[in-house]
Amino acid sequence: TIGMLALDANGNLSGACTTSGMAFKMRGRVGDSPIIGAGLYIDNEVGGATSTGVGEEVIRTVGSFLVVELMRQGYSPEDACREAVERIIKKKPETAKEIQVGFLALNKKGEYGSYALQSGFTYAVCDSQKQDLVIKGKHIF
Ligand code: ASP
Repeated sequence: TIGMLALDANGNLSGACTTSGMAFKMRGRVGDSPIIGAGLYIDNEVGGATSTGVGEEVIRTVGSFLVVELMRQGYSPEDACREAVERIIKKKPETAKEIQVGFLALNKKGEYGSYALQSGFTYAVCDSQKQDLVIKGKHIF
């Protein structure tokens, strides 16, 4: 999945995501990416979030909506992403070490962060001060 979050010069948030889905998926499977609240969610009052990884787990926790709601409660983008990842671990601790799920978030102030289950999650930031900075996202395992 490729997820994008943007904050424009007027302070408006937007986002998009696209995916090829999971390898060897069942015919007709719908992943998290096309489901608003799962693979992507934007609330122009608070922030936006997007996800990658095993979509079934993200759908089960309404992951991107959860990240945005946590930011509404005062969580930083990174802490909100971490909490969403931890919810997935809590629901299925037996598979948590075998799957990847990652979230990326941006709030209304332009703060951003990410968290994933496994290593290997990176993202790029482009703003007026830091052009195309590539950041290694934090991870649990
Ligand atoms: N999230 C996608 C899906 O479950 C897979 C991916 O991250 O590429 O369809």
